[in-house]
Amino acid sequence: PDGTIRWLGNKGRVFGDSAGQSVHMIGTVRDITLRKHAEIQLQEKNRQLENTASAEREANEALKKSTVALERSGAELQTAKEVAEQANRAKSEFLANMSHEIRTPMNGIMGMTELLGNTELTPQQREYLKLSRQSSEALLALLNDILDFSKLEVDRLELESIGFDLRDTLGDTVQTLAVKATQKGLELACHVAPDVPDRLVGDPGRLRQIVINLVDNAIKFTTTGDVLVDVKVDSRDEEKVSLRFFVRDTGIGIAPEDQQLIFDSFSQVDSSTSRRFGGTGLGLAISSQLASMMGGRMWVESEQDKGSTFYFTAHFEAQPQSVKRSAADLQTLVGLRALVVDNNRTNRFIFEEMLGTWGMKIAVADSAPAALDTVREAGEAGLPYSLFLLDAVMPDMDGFALAERLRQDPATKDVPILILSSAGRTHDVVRCDALGLARCLTKPVKQSDLLDATLSALDVSVVEAVDVPTVAEPLAPAARRRVLLAEDGAVNQKVIVDLLEPRGHRVTSVNNGREVLNALENETFDLILMDVQMPEMDGLEATRMIRERERSTGEHVRIAAMTAHVMQGDRERCLEEGMDDYLPKPVRAGDLYDIVENDVSSDGAPPEDPDVDGGALDWQGAVQQVGGNEAILGELAGLFVSEYARRLKEMKRAINHDDATLLRRAAHTLKGSAAVFLADSTVEAALRLETMAREGDLENVDEAMAALERAADELLPALKRKAAAVVA
Ligand code: ADP
Repeated sequence: PDGTIRWLGNKGRVFGDSAGQSVHMIGTVRDITLRKHAEIQLQEKNRQLENTASAEREANEALKKSTVALERSGAELQTAKEVAEQANRAKSEFLANMSHEIRTPMNGIMGMTELLGNTELTPQQREYLKLSRQSSEALLALLNDILDFSKLEVDRLELESIGFDLRDTLGDTVQTLAVKATQKGLELACHVAPDVPDRLVGDPGRLRQIVINLVDNAIKFTTTGDVLVDVKVDSRDEEKVSLRFFVRDTGIGIAPEDQQLIFDSFSQVDSSTSRRFGGTGLGLAISSQLASMMGGRMWVESEQDKGSTFYFTAHFEAQPQSVKRSAADLQTLVGLRALVVDNNRTNRFIFEEMLGTWGMKIAVADSAPAALDTVREAGEAGLPYSLFLLDAVMPDMDGFALAERLRQDPATKDVPILILSSAGRTHDVVRCDALGLARCLTKPVKQSDLLDATLSALDVSVVEAVDVPTVAEPLAPAARRRVLLAEDGAVNQKVIVDLLEPRGHRVTSVNNGREVLNALENETFDLILMDVQMPEMDGLEATRMIRERERSTGEHVRIAAMTAHVMQGDRERCLEEGMDDYLPKPVRAGDLYDIVENDVSSDGAPPEDPDVDGGALDWQGAVQQVGGNEAILGELAGLFVSEYARRLKEMKRAINHDDATLLRRAAHTLKGSAAVFLADSTVEAALRLETMAREGDLENVDEAMAALERAADELLPALKRKAAAVVA
C-alpha cells in the first residue's frame, strides 16, 4: 500500500499488507521470482559447465601425461629394440668370429692328422688317427651348422645369385656322397628330368647344402635299398623356373606325429636313434629355411619302416640354354642302339632316359644272362648294338664277367663298353683297363660325363694301352747290367736289389765310398749307384777319387747319384763332381730302370727330374693330395696318358670346326685331370685354351695348342714312368 516493495524471501514468499495491491504485487513479484529463479538455474548450469570444463581440463592433463608416458615408453621400447638388435648382431658377429677362430686351429688339426696319415704307422695308430679325423670332421660340420643357424636367426644369411650348371652341380654333390652310400651298400642315383633347364642363376652352394643334408640323412637312416635324388620342373615362365627336388630313401621312416617337428631347430625324432646316428637336429631347420629363402618350401612324406621322401621347391632364373655340344657331335648319336645292363631299376631308367635324350635307341636288361640273350636276338635280327653300358656290380655274373663274354664273341668284340662302377672301388678302374674297356664311370653318373664317355667311346673304341713294364720279366741277356750299389741303409739296399735282380741285373752291394773303391779294384761294373751321404767316405768324395784314377786309364764308369736331397742345386753339385746321372730318393722303380737300362748318360745335362720344383709335375705333392695312396695316383697317371690322347684329338677337331664349346670343355677336362698331378705347365696351357674358348677368341689358338703339346711332351713320359714304377 505504501508503494514500497519489500524484499522477497528467497522462496518467493511475499510480505505485504494490502490484499488488492498485493495481487498485482504478487504478479510482479512472481515475475521477479521467476527471473531470479532462471538466473539461479543459469548460474547452476554455469557452475556445472565449469565443473565439466575443469574435468575436461583434468582429463586433458591426464591424457597429456599418459601421452608423454607413452612416448617415453615408446622411446624406451625403441632403445630396447636397438639394444636387442645390437645384441643379436653382436651375437652373430661373435659366432662368426668364434667360428673363424675355431676353424683356424681346426685346420691345423685336420692338416696335421692328414700329414700324419702319410707316415708309417702301426695299425692301432692308424685306427686312432682315423677316429680323430672323423671327430674333427664332425666338429667342423657342427660348427658350420651353428654358424648358419645363427645367421638365419638374425637374417644375416644372404643368397648368392650366380650362373651355374644344375646337372654338374648336382652330379658333383651327389658324387661326393657316393662313397658313404657305397660303404653302406646302398645305391645312390640322381635323376634330372630332361625338361629341367641346365643353365640357372641362383645360389649353387646353398642348393648343394640342402641336397647334401637331405642325402646325408637319407643315407644315415637307411640300411638297405637305395637313395634317389630327383628333379622336376614345378612351374616355369620365360625367365623363372621353379624346380621340385626330392630325395627318396628306403630307410626307417618318420612317424606322422614327428613329421612336422623335425623341421624345428634342435629337434630329432628319437634321441636314442640320434645318439646312434649323430647330428644336431639343425640340418632340416636350416635347409627348410634356405628353401624358403629360395622362394620355395620343404615338406616330407614318410611311412615308418618303408622310407621317407623329402621334397623341396626353389625358384631360379633360367639362363638361355647354351649349346653344350656341336650339333655334329650329337648327330652321330641319333639312332645308335645301346644296351644298358643294370640290376637296379632306377638306374636302368636313368640311363635309358639320359641316352634317349640324345636320340639313341636304348634296350635294357636286368642281368648279365638276360643281356646275353638280348645281344644274341639283336644280332639275329640284324640290329646290333653300338655301345654297351654295364653295371660293374650285379649278382651272379658281374659287369666285368659280362664284358669278357662280349669280348669273346666275334659279333660284339669291337663294340665299346662303358662300365659303371661305384665310388671307392678303385680296382674297377684297373680291371677296366685290363679288359681294354672304353671307360669306367663312377655312379651316380653326371649326364655330361656320360655324354663325354659315350662320344669318346664311339670315337676311339680302343683305349691306348698304357706302357707298363713288369718287374718280374727278365730282360734279354744283352740288356742285363752289372751294378755296384753303394748304400749304407739296409732297407734301401734291399729294395733296390729286389727291383733289379728279377730283371736279370747283377748287383753287388757295398756300404760306403771306401768299399766302392775296393770293389772296383777287383771287378768292372756297367754302373755305380752311389748314395751321396755315407759314413767313412761319402759318394761325392768316392766319385772324385774314381774320376781321378780314370784319368790315367781313360776309362769311364757311369755313376748315378742317389740322394734324398732333391733341392735345386744338389743335382748340379753331383754332376760337377763327375757323376753322370741323378736318382732322387725314395727311388722309384721306373726311374731306376730308366737309369740302369739306358746306357745313354745325360752327358752333364741335368736329367729330367719331375720331382723337383719346376718339373713337369709334383708327384710327391700329388700323392699327398690323394691321401698318400700312390697306387691310385699311379693308376690315374696311366689313365691320363690315354685321356690326353683323346682330349688332344677332340681339341684339334674342335679347332678345325671352330667349335669353341667343345674346345672349352675338352680343355677344361684336361686341365682338371692334369691338376691331379700338380702338372703346372700343362694346367696353365689348358687353362689358356679354356679361357680363349670361353671368350670365343681363337686368334692365338695355334700357339696355345703348341704350348700345351710342349708341356705334355714333358709330362707324359714322366707320368708313364710313374705309372710303371707304381705298378712295379
Ligand atoms: P640331424 O643333424 O639330427 O640329422 P636334421 O634336422 O637333419 O638333424 O634331422 C632331424 C631329425 O629328423 C633326425 O634326427 C631324424 O630323426 C629325422 N630324419 C631326418 N631325415 C630322415 C630320414 N631320411 N629318415 C628318417 N628320419 C629322418
